[in-house]
Amino acid sequence: MDATAIKKWLELFTVKVNEEKAYLSDLDGAIGDGDHGMNMARGTTEMQAAMEAKNPETPADIFKLAGMTLVSKVGGASGPLYGSAFIGMAKAAKDSDDLVEILKAGLDGIQKRGKAEIGEKTMVDTWAPVIASLENGDLTTEKVEEIVEATKPILATKGRASYLGERSVGHLDPGAVSSGYLFTTMIEAGVN
Ligand code: ADP
Ligand code: MG
Ligand code: MG
Repeated sequence: MDATAIKKWLELFTVKVNEEKAYLSDLDGAIGDGDHGMNMARGTTEMQAAMEAKNPETPADIFKLAGMTLVSKVGGASGPLYGSAFIGMAKAAKDSDDLVEILKAGLDGIQKRGKAEIGEKTMVDTWAPVIASLENGDLTTEKVEEIVEATKPILATKGRASYLGERSVGHLDPGAVSSGYLFTTMIEAGVN
């Protein structure tokens, strides 16, 4: 794994999340409390500032700083969940150079923290199929978009959206959408 590509990835993710801040909050307004865009914009902006201030040099140190910043700077559920993902990825990146293995450790961090399984309408429904597709060698931007779109018909059984029951059906999951941005920017940055 190339540290420069990882830094580029996080930078592109920050830009994308900030561009789509209002959209992400609108999605969360429909099935949650309307703050996902604000939470993610704040978290990624703080993450970017920390990268510039501390300039970590190895993949493990970059992921660790990203994770620690997201856990500490984001109030909503998404901060600790993304934070746990990056902290898991940091640990895996110490002994492995394999992107699939590293992302699997990230997903494991999300699931240890949030206890969501596939099919509960959360960010797990982006992470798990994206990793499977990467493992198959057929992950593309279009594929990520299809995966995100597939969260629409799911009935939410975890997170705030689960309070809506049947009314959560027919809406995209905001965390699945922001995770989609994480993976499209990963492709764009050429992380492999
Ligand atoms: P909050 O719900 O605290 O306002 P956000 O709006 O920032 O936090 O994030 C909501 C997103 O977090 C959801 O769209 C979903 O993808 C994700 N999420 C919530 N709970 C869980 C969970 N237990 N496991 C995985 N992801 C979750
Ligand atoms: Mg919210
Ligand atoms: Mg909230």
